[in-house]
Amino acid sequence: MEKKIINDSKKIVIKIGSSTITSQDGTIDKKFLDNLAGQVKALMDMGKRIVIVSSGARIAGVGTLGKWSRKEDIHYKQALCAIGQVELMDSYRKIFDKCGLHVGQLLLTKEDFRDKARTLNIRNTLFTLLDEGVVPIINENDTVCVEEIKIGDNDMLAAYTTVLWGGDLLIILSDIEGIYNKNPQDYKDAKLIEIIEDIEGIENSISLDGKSSFGTGGIATKILAAKEVSKYGANTIVAKGKKENILLKLLNGEAKGTLFLST
Ligand code: ADP
Repeated sequence: MEKKIINDSKKIVIKIGSSTITSQDGTIDKKFLDNLAGQVKALMDMGKRIVIVSSGARIAGVGTLGKWSRKEDIHYKQALCAIGQVELMDSYRKIFDKCGLHVGQLLLTKEDFRDKARTLNIRNTLFTLLDEGVVPIINENDTVCVEEIKIGDNDMLAAYTTVLWGGDLLIILSDIEGIYNKNPQDYKDAKLIEIIEDIEGIENSISLDGKSSFGTGGIATKILAAKEVSKYGANTIVAKGKKENILLKLLNGEAKGTLFLST
């Protein structure tokens, strides 16, 4: 099923979670980025347009500075993101360049998605970059965001981006194969749910049983993101980012994930 959905999708947003983009030592995982660049190139060569939403600025900031990892002060967090964002984009730029791809950076806030003039500007920038074969890489603009005005999670940022751009498919690359019927870290018998058509039903089981099943990690925001894009007719796939060639494997039916089918 994923095979057909990816095949049929022309406009794809790929969201990269922080655990996917960082190595165990807390630095940016260059091997992952190398593999991602190759896959993005392959998808673009098939005529697909790709937008990336990438986390990882704060962790990259800690990796670069080697300090401040425990600072809770919001200004230090924002400063870390300012430092790490450069490191993050530098890695994307160097690695995507090896595949002959240019990248462009867009830092967005919640306000940007609410304001008509801004959404039009974002859309025009996206279309221009994509028309010219450049890969847009989006992150939340942490410098201007304090907790109250944050989108707060890149799963939602990726969902809003998919809607604003009119994307067909959102692919969320995480540290887990997909959505399970319970948290696989706690339950050995957890089963992967390969297709979800009734997003509301899944969502209800989160609020009913916040602790034992879907409540932990970022799974709830992934389901909310899928719900948001499905309202606009787009599908969502959650899959394991660190699996080599995951996007191409999904495309060839060689890997599993969770597919949220829009109704
Ligand atoms: P990311 O950094 O990629 O956004 P998160 O760490 O926020 O990912 O969310 C993924 C984590 O959610 C998994 O590693 C897993 O431990 C946890 N989790 C909790 N419940 C579930 C579930 N029902 N299915 C899958 N993962 C779950």
